[in-house]
Amino acid sequence: MQSRVLVVEDESALLTLLRYNLEKEGFTVAEARDGEEALLHLKEEVPDAVLLDWMLPRISGIELCRQIRRSPAWREVPIIMLTARGEEGDRVRGLDSGADDYVVKPFSTTELVARLRAVIRRSRPAANAEVLRFGDLSLDLSAHRVSRAGQSIHLGPTEFRLLRFFLERPGRVFSREQLLDAVWGREAEVELRTVDVHIRRLRKALNEGGHKDLVRTVRAAGYALDSNAA
Ligand code: CA
Repeated sequence: MQSRVLVVEDESALLTLLRYNLEKEGFTVAEARDGEEALLHLKEEVPDAVLLDWMLPRISGIELCRQIRRSPAWREVPIIMLTARGEEGDRVRGLDSGADDYVVKPFSTTELVARLRAVIRRSRPAANAEVLRFGDLSLDLSAHRVSRAGQSIHLGPTEFRLLRFFLERPGRVFSREQLLDAVWGREAEVELRTVDVHIRRLRKALNEGGHKDLVRTVRAAGYALDSNAA
């Protein structure tokens, strides 16, 4: 699954360069030219990481970083600050405001991509594992097998992809739109209700045998994999 990066940068030339290089490296890129546009993007879709310029018109990068960290829905998203400043004090301020890492302009794309991959990996430690686990639930990626408390569970291909998506991001709440994009793909002509149907199937399969419900329904927001679901 491609990692999605939101790039917040007001300099068009740099934005174009970043998009070109990140897409070449296999990332999906969303762009925002200021903090307000960035907030609109975040409300629509939570990315896997944010590249955030320090100097932005209106809302500064630092302020936007704080806002992202204060929001329960976005708190876990890794943030890399981009900046022309290299002063130690600025670095500390950037990290203090909740950024995970800090890259000083001009930077090499190779380094930026490496750091981006690192923060995404840290935020999703399960992403590279062969077997994803959550409580008594396990999903073996290579064998394509799911089991709960040692009992094997049969899932359809869509439920399998849904569960994999959740297991790679445990506890995070996803809207039906986000699940639709991530599991069915952006171009799929699928109704939102379809997400509910497959969530219901997934839940039924996982809970068979009277197990504790692991899928949390968040009213008006979406779904999450959560050990305190019930
Ligand atoms: Ca700028």
